[in-house]
Amino acid sequence: MKADLERVKVLAEIWKPEQVLAWAFAAYGDNVAIATGFGVEGMVLLDIAARMNPGVKVFTGDTEFLFPETYDLIDRVEEKYDIKIERLYSDLTPEDQERAFGQALWARDPDLCCSLRKVEPLRRKLATLDAWMTAIRREQTRDRATANKVDWDPKFNLVKISPLADWTREMIWRYVVKHDVPYNPLHDRNYPSIGCTHCTRAVQPGEDPRAGRWSGFGKTECGLHTSASALVQLAPVGVEE
Ligand code: SF4
Repeated sequence: MKADLERVKVLAEIWKPEQVLAWAFAAYGDNVAIATGFGVEGMVLLDIAARMNPGVKVFTGDTEFLFPETYDLIDRVEEKYDIKIERLYSDLTPEDQERAFGQALWARDPDLCCSLRKVEPLRRKLATLDAWMTAIRREQTRDRATANKVDWDPKFNLVKISPLADWTREMIWRYVVKHDVPYNPLHDRNYPSIGCTHCTRAVQPGEDPRAGRWSGFGKTECGLHTSASALVQLAPVGVEE
């Protein structure tokens, strides 16, 4: 298994997304799914995958802090592709989180907030799969620059598949226009990367496309695609470790 994966890891680097997806569906059947936050890259991956496999499984982390435009896009995707998106929630409602950790945790400790609302729900989901597919691209962040199209994910202990790893932003948008892929209208209002309302702003001309995420913090990832092995400790406000 490991030896096969090492072989595919090398081969996949020259494969087109369709070839990567065909291999993934053949290798993992119902035990592979797409994780997406409904950015434009995720929409392209979903569109390619749904054309090849109308029953493709898709899930998303619903932090309960997403933009109305994102919730509307999820509804449109379900209708257009005739699929049901699985939504993953934190064990804590926003109100529970405020009681346990105080107001506006995202403004004080976004790593902890992301861990509670995104990473842990995803970790539970990934424990049920053999492989997951993401739409990350190498040019997006430093953490993503070394992503392989197929690799073992030691953080979540399953195979991680990133068919668009070598695509450029221009390739993504060319695909969107050519195939009339639905996308979040916030992208047309200077939001190249879209997360939660509390942690996303429009970018200014010349800024990095991800400058609008966790602006003011050194943070560029929610924790799903970083290589760090340990999650932050989940210590409620006022609780001694
Ligand atoms: S993006 Fe912001 S609001 Fe959303 S889970 Fe992370 S820290 Fe919390």
